[in-house]
Amino acid sequence: MSSELIVAGGGMGGLAAAARSRELGASVTVFEKGDRPGGSMALSSGFFWRYRDFERFREECPGGDPELQRLVFERLDEDLAWIESLGAPVLTRKTGNPLTVGVQFDPRGLTDTLARRAGEIRLGAALNEIPATAPVILATGGFQGDRDLLRRYVTPEADELVLRANRWSAGDGLRLGLDAGGELTDGMDEFYGRNLPAPPARISPDGFRPLAQLYARYARVVNAEGERYVARTWSEIDVVQWTARQSWARAWYVVPDEALGKRVRDRTVGEMIQAARDSGAAVRHERGETAVEVVAGITTTLGGLRVDAHARVAEGVFACGADVGGISTGGYSSGLAAALVFGRIAAEETGALSR
Ligand SMILES: Cc1cc2nc3c(=O)[nH]c(=O)nc-3n(C[C@H](O)[C@H](O)[C@H](O)COP(=O)(O)OP(=O)(O)OC[C@H]3O[C@@H](n4cnc5c(N)ncnc54)[C@H](O)[C@@H]3O)c2cc1C
Repeated sequence: MSSELIVAGGGMGGLAAAARSRELGASVTVFEKGDRPGGSMALSSGFFWRYRDFERFREECPGGDPELQRLVFERLDEDLAWIESLGAPVLTRKTGNPLTVGVQFDPRGLTDTLARRAGEIRLGAALNEIPATAPVILATGGFQGDRDLLRRYVTPEADELVLRANRWSAGDGLRLGLDAGGELTDGMDEFYGRNLPAPPARISPDGFRPLAQLYARYARVVNAEGERYVARTWSEIDVVQWTARQSWARAWYVVPDEALGKRVRDRTVGEMIQAARDSGAAVRHERGETAVEVVAGITTTLGGLRVDAHARVAEGVFACGADVGGISTGGYSSGLAAALVFGRIAAEETGALSR
């Protein structure tokens, strides 16, 4: 017998949940607030990854729920094989980071592959209340698009943050989940993002990836008062979170000439600075150093709804993706990976409800 399922959000978590649910025989309707499917996943680099070993995951994200982390760690490889079996285009099987393993998909091709299998997707249709009769999966992508929630949970400088994500993920899942009796996780003040060239730089979604300023490790990082911050993590997620709490959510990266040739993944520091200059940011060269003004760009919030190992928020209400908190707490892990794994878990659990 085919069952009814409502999915809120047609990004990574929602499309994976919908496609898997239909595979299991459910009849699914996806509500998508935006004018296209794919959410932030369609804008992303498409890297789905996990730490090479679980102990490292725990060390990197010590505040996260070990049970949820274990699920991501153990299920990801099989879930990636599933996406591949659907025909999503793989770009590479190397993450470029010795700590991690994973797969990079072409984000547009992946969106199309999943959207074709997701059933009816109602574009321009936000889910604003929990349906009375059907189970629902909340996959609205976090609350980075809502300045009031950012001010409440993340930083008093919320109005200055640059939104480095789709513009529709504004905490709808969080509100719906809490109204249904759900709870918040720890780490509501944490987020993943990148420092970007500060205004007057012009940044459109095409610039979210190429304009990322990812060389704090080679720079002297200072705020407007001249106070210094030293980067602590390979992902530099601590640097962007520190920047978000400085005046105007801004900082300066001061780079000695000798560091301009250093590489971070596929680009040199000099190339990243040139991209900032081309975008119109303040870039000054004096006495053998280049200073670049940066602003914190927020991609996804990391705190959110508390779920159990069945992706359950409350009776009949499930969640996946950035609506779920408590996985990366204290550090950073792949948001795409968590969205995929919990999207599939939510699909399997809602399917089991109707059997
Ligand atoms: C530039 C960039 C690069 C990135 N690179 C990577 C990477 O390489 N690796 C990685 O792991 N992560 C990366 N990410 C993060 C990754 O994209 C997210 O973690 C992931 O998309 C989260 O999945 P999600 O389903 O929660 O949200 P999304 O994919 O954003 O989907 C949420 C969807 O919900 C919709 N929505 C919102 N409210 C409602 C509502 N009320 N009703 C219906 N629909 C609603 C939105 O319109 C959106 O389509 C990147 C993100 C960006 C922006």
